[in-house]
Amino acid sequence: MYPDDQMRHVTGRFAPSPTGPLHVGSLVAAVGSYCLARRSGGRWLVRMEDLDAPRIVPGAAEQILRTLEVLGLEWDGAVVWQSRRKERYEAAMQRLREKGLVFDCACSRREVLASAPHSGEEGPVYPGTCRQGIPRGRRPRALRLRVPEEMFCFSDGVFGRVEQHLASAVGDFVLRRADGLFAYQLAVVVDDADAGVNQVVRGADLLASTPRQIFLHCALGTEVPGYIHLPLVLTADGEKLSKRHGAVSVGTAGQAGMLLWRVLAFLGQEPPASLHAAPAREVLAWGTAHFDPSRVSRQPRQWGTTGGDRDG
Ligand code: GLU
Repeated sequence: MYPDDQMRHVTGRFAPSPTGPLHVGSLVAAVGSYCLARRSGGRWLVRMEDLDAPRIVPGAAEQILRTLEVLGLEWDGAVVWQSRRKERYEAAMQRLREKGLVFDCACSRREVLASAPHSGEEGPVYPGTCRQGIPRGRRPRALRLRVPEEMFCFSDGVFGRVEQHLASAVGDFVLRRADGLFAYQLAVVVDDADAGVNQVVRGADLLASTPRQIFLHCALGTEVPGYIHLPLVLTADGEKLSKRHGAVSVGTAGQAGMLLWRVLAFLGQEPPASLHAAPAREVLAWGTAHFDPSRVSRQPRQWGTTGGDRDG
């Protein structure tokens, strides 16, 4: 059994961005988070990360929810929409401000790029230009969080011990962008805390964001969830799967079961061949009973090279 899960009631979640139809990479996160939450009778929530209005595709959110339904990935409670929660992000921002952790920044993206001491894990590291106040004659644009000179460590359920020196890998990061939108990093922490999420399962592309989120949880005094990051999905040529090519389509119930089987195979779970053509509900029930994170690879993997490619 799973003693860790039994000691605490698990609340997991799936948090897609509705920037297009459900993508194979996202589906991997959905199935992994579902099985890991349900294996101990925990809750599984769905949150639409629709904050970044310019990137939202109309109708994509509804389409993603329909696909989850066809796959039998039933969530608990109502879907949470980030676009309706701005006052919660504002309140968190206020708390961080009161702690002296937030500062106005006048730098444009180009200025940060030109003055960054080096390139960090996800682009230029903020050089600290406005940390002590905005230069005379400049207007505030974004709001940034002051990060400490500390090493952040956590134990990931698949990747093991992960360390990041936040100040040198990322620097003071943006909480509210120049266009007024709250940043993903802040929203995800506030949402997970408000919903009582204590198990975050998602793609390995977010591994480098995790120390930022852990620092935010600590700064806001909310519980740091456990993290399990799943391998990225590559095309047969070893490229990252594009939105267009990775779109999931499930027209029939038979396709739904096969797709879930392939996801479990991708995640190293070795679902029995006898379930290859089984209904979605049976494949999910097997996944829920047997999902074991220690079988999941850390390496990015090609979609369909794990035995699941039999049906092309
Ligand atoms: N919305 C993000 C995505 O679709 C996932 C965020 C998360 O799981 O923390 O990639």
